[in-house]
Amino acid sequence: MVVAPLSQAFAMRCPPSIRCPSDDRITRRVPSGGLWVVASRPVELDAPRLIDRWPVLAGQIRAALIRDDETELAGQVDELRVLEMCACGDDFCQSFYTAPRPEKSYPMDRHRNWFPEDDEPGWDGYLILDVVDERIAFVEVLYRPPLD
Ligand SMILES: [Zn+2]
Repeated sequence: MVVAPLSQAFAMRCPPSIRCPSDDRITRRVPSGGLWVVASRPVELDAPRLIDRWPVLAGQIRAALIRDDETELAGQVDELRVLEMCACGDDFCQSFYTAPRPEKSYPMDRHRNWFPEDDEPGWDGYLILDVVDERIAFVEVLYRPPLD
């Protein structure tokens, strides 16, 4: 019996270029000296920036946060990355994760929801941020025209 090296065994568990749930890193197989080895780096570095992908939405979120004096959160918007879309399947939902998806729910004592006090995110629908340890972790975008 041939025993695969640990790195190879790990690569077989994690298909190329998906988030490996065990460590929140992008994992992909790369050839090296005739063997497949795992190369990984933090998932955040491979994900597109919100501001590049949907600049209008980024501006709407930032403006709403500034209106509510959430300057700390507003300052995070330019650095947010779109890690993963919500998988709920509702046709009115275009929510996405900006921090790795939690295994279960967010820890209650470190989590808060923020939404615009005037209920006017810039479109005729809803914006709700899930904030964990004062970092924007999930952006709930509901009833919005296609993201732009
Ligand atoms: Zn959803």
